[in-house]
Amino acid sequence: MVATAITAPDLIEDARKRHKLSSAETKGLGEALMASLLLASTCKAGERVSLSIKGDKFFRQAIADATPEGKVRGFVIAKELESDIDTSMGPWQNGLLSVVRLKLNEKEPYVGTVPIVTGYLAKDLTFYLTQSEQIPSAVGLAVNLGKNRSVVSAGAFLVQVLPGASKKEIESLENNINQLEGLAARLAKDSDPTRLLAQIFSDAAFTILDERPLAFECTCSRDRVSGALKLLGKAEIEDMIAKDHGADVNCDFCGTCYSYSEGELAALLQATSSTAKR
Ligand SMILES: [Zn+2]
Repeated sequence: MVATAITAPDLIEDARKRHKLSSAETKGLGEALMASLLLASTCKAGERVSLSIKGDKFFRQAIADATPEGKVRGFVIAKELESDIDTSMGPWQNGLLSVVRLKLNEKEPYVGTVPIVTGYLAKDLTFYLTQSEQIPSAVGLAVNLGKNRSVVSAGAFLVQVLPGASKKEIESLENNINQLEGLAARLAKDSDPTRLLAQIFSDAAFTILDERPLAFECTCSRDRVSGALKLLGKAEIEDMIAKDHGADVNCDFCGTCYSYSEGELAALLQATSSTAKR
């Protein structure tokens, strides 16, 4: 059996502030960010995991993008709260859960999609891993907020049975899944992932294979945004100069705003035309 445990209150608080999230959005995105970090923890260096969740009621979509090195970025789009919420289901209600794995040396990503069954991300991800990827697993996710909406604790774990595990090991994990799910909330309050693992493995001895820091980190940069603006073409940039006398470009993933003055846009325009001339 292998397990990954993470605590990430500062990372989720960072995401909340960047995207100016409501309490429900913080929990939704926080769970998605931690879930993608858990999935990425089982990947090789250089690979990426993208988790996409599409809901049909309160949450419209969340995308979380993580690397095995512990870097993650993501966003959530919420709708206005609708009245016909199914209270027997979790916040995602109905929809689709997709896991996209970008493997090294493979052009096509591996995409697995399952319908959302319970509306709770931890349960639906457990279902996805066990059914779709055929690895008996248990996932726990918990984000707790304080009175001022700030994140006070956030913790998550992924327990998986290794390939070639005995029937007995798989059965013991399956028997413990319900107990483990309840653990997440309690575990989140503990700031030390090693102690979380000790609780997951209860009395059994375990070895720490690896430890790494986690951070919200985006791959956007001013250079990339400038490149994207140039791709819009001359007419579009001229329009921005004439109408808006500048441009503010927001990155969906991290909320960073890149501001361009009239002069900076003119310089981009110059670069566009000189490229076109070549
Ligand atoms: Zn960004």
